[in-house]
Amino acid sequence: MKVVYLSSEVVPFAKTGGLADIAGAIPKSLQKFGVEIVVIMPFYGIIKEDRHPITKTDIRFEVKVGDKLQPGFVYKGFLPDTRIPIYFLNNEHYFGRMGLYNYPGTTKDFEDNSERFIFFAQGALEVIEKLKMCPDVVHCNDWQTGLVPVYRKTNYAGKACFQKTRTIMTIHNLSYQGVFWHWDMNLTGLDWSLFNWKQLEFYGKLNFLKGGIVFCDLITTVSKTYAEEIQTPEYGIGLDGVLRERAGDLYGIINGIDYSLWNPETDKCIIANYGLKNLNGKHLCKRALQRKYKLPERDCPVIGMITRLTDQKGLDLIVNKFSELMKIDLQFILLGTGDQRYHEIFRGYEKTYPTKVAVIVTFDERLAHEIEAGSDMLLMPSRFEPCGLNQLYSLRYGTVPIVRSTGGLADTITDVRSEPLSRGRANGFSFKEYDPDLLLATVIRAVDLFTKDKTQWTHLMRNGMAQDWSLERSAGEYVALYKKLCMRDESCQSQI
Ligand code: ADP
Repeated sequence: MKVVYLSSEVVPFAKTGGLADIAGAIPKSLQKFGVEIVVIMPFYGIIKEDRHPITKTDIRFEVKVGDKLQPGFVYKGFLPDTRIPIYFLNNEHYFGRMGLYNYPGTTKDFEDNSERFIFFAQGALEVIEKLKMCPDVVHCNDWQTGLVPVYRKTNYAGKACFQKTRTIMTIHNLSYQGVFWHWDMNLTGLDWSLFNWKQLEFYGKLNFLKGGIVFCDLITTVSKTYAEEIQTPEYGIGLDGVLRERAGDLYGIINGIDYSLWNPETDKCIIANYGLKNLNGKHLCKRALQRKYKLPERDCPVIGMITRLTDQKGLDLIVNKFSELMKIDLQFILLGTGDQRYHEIFRGYEKTYPTKVAVIVTFDERLAHEIEAGSDMLLMPSRFEPCGLNQLYSLRYGTVPIVRSTGGLADTITDVRSEPLSRGRANGFSFKEYDPDLLLATVIRAVDLFTKDKTQWTHLMRNGMAQDWSLERSAGEYVALYKKLCMRDESCQSQI
């Protein structure tokens, strides 16, 4: 079975969020199931040739964006420690700049994002053809690849290379849809007849993700609960109707994590390694974290947060209750970037509560590992959460998650109240309604257990650490779907 995996970001080459983690890791797990896999992503300015072993190939292609023929160049590398090829598509004008989708350090989108990903979508199909891959499945991820299923069924429908190719569209976050003004239809080279409410049109605009959802053969999203939620007006962000229409082809597959990168026993970013059998190192990590951020080295709980600073992450609940949270004996460490408004609010808290709060406004992988290891709890009160990865990292690091029960958080975190610890499933604290009082009550519940019953607390930590949230499980489910797609189509010859 041949699969081409398309993603606009892939660890370790370029990352803004969880999509990159998954795209960098799941191909390895899919390969273990016998899938022949190739990854394709854009060649951004930040992907330095000297940092990764990447070479320029002699493959060239041209795609039409509007009236202009745009040249494309192809670079090749491998996912680290594997023989899985990754092809980088370049066009200096589109990708030779810093930043993936926004002006660096801001939330302002590049004005030409639609052009850039119209180029990428067609470029990916061109390269697949040039390499004579004839894949069974092209696996698309998020809006940046949303036009691929559309091209596959329209402009590329007659191409021999794609006769048996089926497309899967995975939605990692429905709130990013790639919505552009209607005249960008002219840039796509697609027929204007597709610009109707059942296909590419979305409230008078052009919607890339909607195109992907309508034209792909199967849709997946990254947890079962989110798959249900996005079919409702509350979570569907205008696409719930389209998703309901395709409910029979919509699957929820929970993400997993790459334990070769996120494992406290081997993690090179942290000051002391530790694991289920020996938790001593965690204490050292906590002290190091407190020292680094000039917080008193005390035994009170340290609550960590590593997050994009956007409304999605439930930050307004925290802001609403911050002064009350500060009355509790705890320390709070936040690593995040995003909305300027939140930068200012949280920096203000750091000034007001210097012995209790540390705020680091940057994107820093190493620090993310240090905070996972050094915190006692991780706070993730998301308004919605397709899957969430941080809570899964936390589980492995013995850092007990406090979450709002939605999407992937609902599918992965079992509240300590709902099951006896001895069964091994209870692994955190959660609340259901999006309500600041419930957030506060849940934090108080967590801090109480931490301070009053160390035996139970350690049991809770160990439950999480022992659980298996590896990507192998997810990969198995994807392979089953790939097979199902192939079975639908008798012309699909290759076998797993
Ligand atoms: P989302 O994809 O919505 O941002 P996830 O929890 O699924 O949320 O994944 C977020 C990923 O990005 C995690 O790997 C997390 O550690 C990382 N991350 C988020 N913000 C930062 C930051 N400021 N510095 C380092 N890593 C970050």
